Amino acid sequence: MGNERIVGALLRGISTGRFAHTLLFAGPAGSGKKSLAGFVVQRLFCPDSCQLCPNCTMLARGIHPDYLHIASEGSVKLEHARQLKEFLAAPPNTAAYKVALLEDCQNLTVEAGNSLLKILEDPPQASVCILTADSADNVLPTLVSRSQVYTLAPLSREVISHALEKRNVPQQRSWFLAGFSQGVLGRALKLLEDEDFWLRRQQMATEIQEILARRRNPLQSSDNWQVQPEEALDLLESWLRDMLLSQINPDYIPVNRDLQSYLDACMRNCPADKCIALLDYCAAVREYLQTRCNPRLVFDCLALKMWEV
Ligand SMILES: [Zn+2]
Repeated sequence: MGNERIVGALLRGISTGRFAHTLLFAGPAGSGKKSLAGFVVQRLFCPDSCQLCPNCTMLARGIHPDYLHIASEGSVKLEHARQLKEFLAAPPNTAAYKVALLEDCQNLTVEAGNSLLKILEDPPQASVCILTADSADNVLPTLVSRSQVYTLAPLSREVISHALEKRNVPQQRSWFLAGFSQGVLGRALKLLEDEDFWLRRQQMATEIQEILARRRNPLQSSDNWQVQPEEALDLLESWLRDMLLSQINPDYIPVNRDLQSYLDACMRNCPADKCIALLDYCAAVREYLQTRCNPRLVFDCLALKMWEV
């Protein structure tokens, strides 16, 4: 969904037999890489995707002998590369191709990367390798150069809202998710199901309001936030952005408009220049977290900055 150009290009390639035999699908978790891979495999095995022939039925049941799906937990190791090599070495049984899907190639160990490279340099006939990664930048450049790279673009707010509305998600919730998921439908769907997430978000709104009003010990909240640092930072940033944009643009509709009364209360104690300073600090926090600083200290500083007048 939302990546029709990529799908069109792949379909044309498959129907004419002119496509790279190593495909790399890049995009953040939830952006549809696995769905796209499933779509490609389906078309490679049955161009009409008839759902009736042996290829279609075996694929649907997950027992097609010409399809190998490797999803590793953690790093992709040499044994995975070997498994893939062994699988591709034999010719296809019933399909026109042997297809292997190797997920999370941003986590390849050096040995696995080198082994994979050897396979891809001299791929067995009628074999197709589909690799996925969160970003092509995080994959060995030598692997990327041997692949046809398709980067899944973030979806527009409209596309995500539409997809959520089709699932009967209440409008205010779908508005928030469309803004908060940053164009990644899979992320929106995951959050939708996660009742604890909505509780954490509500709790955070209360905490931000009380810290800005200096009615709460900021270090207590930072203690909560550092448990899930990425999520806390995403929520806080979306909150601060709403506060900033609402103050400088009267037509702005906040992502968090379902919590408008909390936003209003926060804005009374946080003028635009403070929002900007805090957003700057959030960007720094993101970098600190990536360099493995202690999340507790980082969030302590952030909460104290919110508390300061
Ligand atoms: Zn079929």
